[in-house]
Amino acid sequence: MFYPFFDSTYFLVIIGIVISMAASGYVNHTFRKYDAYRSQSNYSGSDAARFILAQSGINNVGVQKISGDLTDNYNGQTKVLSLSEATADSPSVAAIGVAAHECGHAVQDHVNYWPMRLRTALVPAANLGSTLSLPIIIVGVLLSYNQTLIHIGILLFSLALLFQLVTLPVEFNASRRALQILANGQVLTRDEVPMVRKVLTAAALTYVAAALATFLQLLRLIILFGGNRDDN
Ligand SMILES: [Zn+2]
Repeated sequence: MFYPFFDSTYFLVIIGIVISMAASGYVNHTFRKYDAYRSQSNYSGSDAARFILAQSGINNVGVQKISGDLTDNYNGQTKVLSLSEATADSPSVAAIGVAAHECGHAVQDHVNYWPMRLRTALVPAANLGSTLSLPIIIVGVLLSYNQTLIHIGILLFSLALLFQLVTLPVEFNASRRALQILANGQVLTRDEVPMVRKVLTAAALTYVAAALATFLQLLRLIILFGGNRDDN
């Protein structure tokens, strides 16, 4: 993202970047650590996903492999559960954990879990917010600190934060469902489930970090432009 205003409040943005980098480093480290543990069932991520979906009575969701690192996702529109190469083919405890988490999203979709519906409904507003907020604020500043434009820009930015806040319960809930499913012992042993819990907790922290980083950026915008600038 482009930051045109370098000033003392920029440290808030830096803090956000550092938190996000630390969280993403931690999830990578944790995934690699438990990717070294081969599951006793010897299921790959794809095998586990298919097994869990069938067991959950979901037969309209396809499982596919996609490129990239930690790009695993579930698409409720297309009913496709995509697993990254590292997850799809690996028979590790970490891979099964990630696959089970994505199955958790498929189950949310299946049971019409309302926070997931709300999150999907917020996508256009969040995209609009993150695309237009800074340009509108910049135009507002250029037009002798036009308060209306600046406030519209800040409001648009807060839509991006709202989206990230709604994402949190959806992600936590998907991991909780994954751990519940895995606890029945058919895919993982009793000793393997706590390892998955660590991987999924690390993944959840990246969403918390992202929301925190966005909050710090919003705070900075409010500090810079939130007040009335009668002196201009
Ligand atoms: Zn997720």
